[in-house]
Amino acid sequence: MRRRSLADLAPAELDGRRVLIRVDYNVPLSGDGAVADVTRIRATLPTLLHVMERGGRPVLLSHLGRPKGTIMPSMSLRPVAPVLADELGVPVRFVPSTDTDEAVEASCDIGRDEVLLLENTRFLAGETTNDPALAERFARLGDVFVNDAFGSTHRAHASVVGVTEFLKPSVAGLLVQRELQALSGLREISRRPFVVIFGGAKIGDKIGLMEAFLERADTVLIGGAMANTFLAAAGASTGRSLVERDAIPVAERFLTSGDRKLVLPTDLVVADLEAADAGSAKVVAAGEVPPDLAALDIGPESQGAFAEVVRGAGTVFWNGPMGLFEKPGFDAGTVAVAVATAECTAAGGFTVIGGGDSAAAIRQAGLSEAVSHVSTGGGASLEYLADGSLPGIEALDPA
Ligand code: ADP
Ligand code: MG
Repeated sequence: MRRRSLADLAPAELDGRRVLIRVDYNVPLSGDGAVADVTRIRATLPTLLHVMERGGRPVLLSHLGRPKGTIMPSMSLRPVAPVLADELGVPVRFVPSTDTDEAVEASCDIGRDEVLLLENTRFLAGETTNDPALAERFARLGDVFVNDAFGSTHRAHASVVGVTEFLKPSVAGLLVQRELQALSGLREISRRPFVVIFGGAKIGDKIGLMEAFLERADTVLIGGAMANTFLAAAGASTGRSLVERDAIPVAERFLTSGDRKLVLPTDLVVADLEAADAGSAKVVAAGEVPPDLAALDIGPESQGAFAEVVRGAGTVFWNGPMGLFEKPGFDAGTVAVAVATAECTAAGGFTVIGGGDSAAAIRQAGLSEAVSHVSTGGGASLEYLADGSLPGIEALDPA
């Protein structure tokens, strides 16, 4: 997937020109509508500075949440504008529409050292269906297109893929370039053993991609609610644990193909599901979850075993927390894996974390800087690692 990047553009291709940049500002908002985490905003600063230093005028498109083609005021990108202005140190103008004449006019009068942010692309019905008419209207917003929305590059949407048909040059932004560089280190494994850790709750989305990892990895550790689904597939009693019933046939197939690479937890931390109260938590053998309780973390024996495998790895890819890490008392498994991943890195291993919640977990453990790379895209990183390509990258100009 060699594609032209922002760094390849000649100064004249940027100077004075409107640079339409698809970013991923799908940020979490707190109850009062403020931006709760700035990671994704900060991740785009190198691209924005690169463009502005060369006289380009950034026009930003992003989605936020899943408004499904209707205007949902709670998913407006408006609260992002002041935060971006603060991070970037230049004024950010917000226009509350996306594909309108108003937006095009605003794109034509942004000044030097000013940024234009438009409204949520997913307020428009044609975004997720990759409607060519909408893509063509997006193309009127810039003279150059830059995809820096790594977290959205696995989506064939109008502002990611369709727009590239109508706007040239179309190039990769610096964040996308950095992500691809880091992740390609996991496609061509140079240091073994290659250990993959799967956890989290989005089982249906992820289990289909697991096959590619089972082929390439030396060991696949499974924790979190993903493990509950595998344990259920193995016939274990899982009580009230989060299990994705639809995914059980696939889990069964992986188990019966007898893959010796798969490692499931041997013990679990269980508690009352509603209370999720650490005081009432206890440890049981995997497969012996009482009918009224739920498994909310991997147990101490599994933590030790997982950590040992991770410490001895040459390459690590981790997606999905080992338990309900947001709740005190159910984060020990996730922390144990985070610490082991940091230790592996310190010993010369190459370690990558993908997934929004996994990235939050490694931050919560204070270890973001102690691993090789924390990806800003969960689904995108998984899909790239499994397939070796992404629709939003394929659509860009060849290098
Ligand atoms: P990521 O965002 O890293 O890809 P997911 O979105 O798939 O990860 O899953 C993260 C969520 O999974 C977290 O909110 C976490 O609390 C939840 N989770 C992990 N293990 C369990 C479990 N055993 N029971 C319920 N929820 C769990
Ligand atoms: Mg998540």
